[in-house]
Amino acid sequence: METTEIDFTSRDRISWVTAIAFSIFHGLAIVALFHATWDAVLVAVVLHWTCIGWGIGMGYHRLHTHRSYKTSKFVEYFFALCGTLTLQGGPVFWTALHRIHHQNSDHAGDPHTPRDGKWWSHMLWTLFGEELHGDTEVLGKYAPDLMQHRFYRVLTRWHWVPLVLLGLGLLAVGGWSWLLWGVFLRVVVGLHCTWLVNSATHLWGNRRFATKDDSRNSWWVALLTFGEGWHNNHHAHPTSARHGLVWRELDLTWLQIKLLAWLGIVWDVYEPTKDQIAGKSLPLESAV
Ligand SMILES: [Zn+2]
Ligand SMILES: [Zn+2]
Repeated sequence: METTEIDFTSRDRISWVTAIAFSIFHGLAIVALFHATWDAVLVAVVLHWTCIGWGIGMGYHRLHTHRSYKTSKFVEYFFALCGTLTLQGGPVFWTALHRIHHQNSDHAGDPHTPRDGKWWSHMLWTLFGEELHGDTEVLGKYAPDLMQHRFYRVLTRWHWVPLVLLGLGLLAVGGWSWLLWGVFLRVVVGLHCTWLVNSATHLWGNRRFATKDDSRNSWWVALLTFGEGWHNNHHAHPTSARHGLVWRELDLTWLQIKLLAWLGIVWDVYEPTKDQIAGKSLPLESAV
């Protein structure tokens, strides 16, 4: 892959569309707290699982970015659609940004390293720079595999449309409480859960592997993100479909991939061997 030509770490220009959208979402997430109903909370929980667990964990991250397993085009497209419902951009944008993160982790060119500040790595990085969310021409060279699919190009250009349609559907079926919980509060919670993988798991937790970045394993981020918190494991073995590498490292996304493999819905699931894991492990005394 070529070196980064776009400066994702630029702070010269505020991305106003993103800043205004995120401000509105955070404001309405607070309003949602005053309109809580049991059914609205249930809708939000189901959508959090679908969008963060399937869309980001199983889709954008382990499938579209790292290709850690194979599946049918239909399932790929379905996970990508779930991913757009998180307001984290379309599949080409997300994949490009995340591949650049792995290429430059915690070094010059990493879009979101805590070495540039804790809050920068958590959310401020999203508010600066050029509006590239829908720019498949610029981003496409980091995700040429996705660019071959017209579906991904169109979905990236119009990534916010599925969320708008979902919002209208929720409003029609369940009224304002469903809209507030199922879209605004749920999206804000999901954003912060994903952002914690960029901030907290490059700051706090254990290191089992000697990676060239600051990545850590965090059990509480893993709980919030269906297994994405075993981030030091992931940086050491980026193409592994399994992030929690031992039974006590709960990785719900891995368990779901195993279930889908058993059902024949996914195949060619990549998991590192014991020797590969041992080869990259830190000596016990420094693994803290
Ligand atoms: Zn990372
Ligand atoms: Zn990754």
